[in-house]
Parts: sequence; C-alpha cells; structure tokens
Amino acid sequence: MTLVPLPAFADNYIWMLQDGSNAIVVDPGDAQPVFDALARNKLQLAAILVTHHHADHTGGVAALQAATGAPVFGPARERIPGPFTPLSHGDSADVLGLRFSVIDVPGHTAGHIAYFLPARQGRAPLLFCGDTLFSGGCGRLFEGTPAQMLASLDALAALPGDSRVCCAHEYTLANLRFARAVEPGNADLTQYIAHCESLRAQELPTLPSQLATERRINPFLRSREATVLRAVREHAELSADAAEADVFAALRQWKNDFR
Ligand code: ZN
Ligand code: FE
Repeated sequence: MTLVPLPAFADNYIWMLQDGSNAIVVDPGDAQPVFDALARNKLQLAAILVTHHHADHTGGVAALQAATGAPVFGPARERIPGPFTPLSHGDSADVLGLRFSVIDVPGHTAGHIAYFLPARQGRAPLLFCGDTLFSGGCGRLFEGTPAQMLASLDALAALPGDSRVCCAHEYTLANLRFARAVEPGNADLTQYIAHCESLRAQELPTLPSQLATERRINPFLRSREATVLRAVREHAELSADAAEADVFAALRQWKNDFR
C-alpha cells in the first residue's frame, strides 16, 4: 500500500492509499485530483472515507461515487452528500482487507470522526484525522466545546508514537509560528521548524508527520505541560483553579487571535 497526498484547493490534501490496482481516498473535497490520480496510475476506486461534513472534505464525493460506484463511509452524526455507511466510535470500515477503526473526535465539528489503521507488515500505523489534529496545531472549534476538543486530541495522542498523522491541510508552518510563540525554548520545536521550512522550500508536503513528534512540538497536545501553562497564563487572564479545558480554551483563543 502506498500513501500519497493529493493536493486540492489552496492547502487541502486528499489522502490516497493505493496497492497498484485499487485505491482508497479520504476527504475528497474535489473530485478532479482524484480522477486524475486514478487515471494516471490506472486504479479503481475501492472506497471513499469522510471525516466530517465540511465542503472542502466532501465536495467531490457525489461525482466520485457516481462515476465509480465506490462505497462511501462517513460520520454517523453528520450529513454528507449521497448514500453512505454511517460510522461512530468503535465501528470499523473494512476495505481491501484493511480495517480502519473509527474514533469519535468532536470539536471542529460535532460529529467529526477519525480513522486509524494499525501497523501491518512493516507499514507504520496511519491516522486520518481530518481537521482535528494538524501538524503543530488543531482545528478551529466551529461546533464543539474546548473540553470536547481536548478529549478528542487526548484520544489521538494516546495512539502509537510511530503513527503517521495524515491531516487534511498544509497549515504546518503557520501553526509552528504560533507554537514557537508559546514555547520559544522548545529545542525539538526549533529543529522541527527547520525541517518543515526546508520541505516547503522544496515544495514538498510536511505531512504525514509522526505522532511522537506532535507530542513534543504541538502546543495543543501539550496544554498540561508547565511551559505551555505558564505561557497561557502570561497571555490570558485565568483563575488559579482554572480547569484543563479552560487552559485549552485560552490557548485556542490565543491562536485564533495570533498574527
Ligand atoms: Zn473542516
Ligand atoms: Fe478542512
């Protein structure tokens, strides 16, 4: 199985997994990049996986489904175009002999799900997390609460450290500018920024990243760390007994306002 990010729109990636004859795509916001990749590599589309209802993740679903007949899997609590198999926590999508297990990750949207594919035969575990966890950041809270997003990120952070984080946007450098403002003394972060800047200078994706890296550099996975707590408290008014979700909310708000 080969994993490829297909660029779409300004900064989306449609993830494609292919075995030389069949392909699975995740969050096809646009059908054309998928049609092109299928034709170029002479692939049949075996399934479409969707993480949440936003148009930049679902806009190509109907056209792909109509042209290929591929089954569509999506979040049970959200409406996406056309017929699909609704999935929620603990369910799985079985495609091409692969079992994608579903994790509920509300926060960006109310019914957002992620797909996790365990390691197999030397292939690292893969996490398709849509707009929940980004490299160096997390999705905006459009429909969920800070407590929900924190719990969702905790669930993802508990997956194996060698998991490849396949998120849906190339937001990494902007996220890392904020991460550096939060933790200027984080040496792992400094090193990762240099790594990602060199990738982008070569017009290469910064993704997938590794979960173990995210745990060391992503402030939204580190809101309980002393360094991050201190920075949030310096930036925002927080009571002495502020709950973890309040700290997380203040961190997310700081990022929203960050220029
Ligand atoms: Zn979204
Ligand atoms: Fe998106």
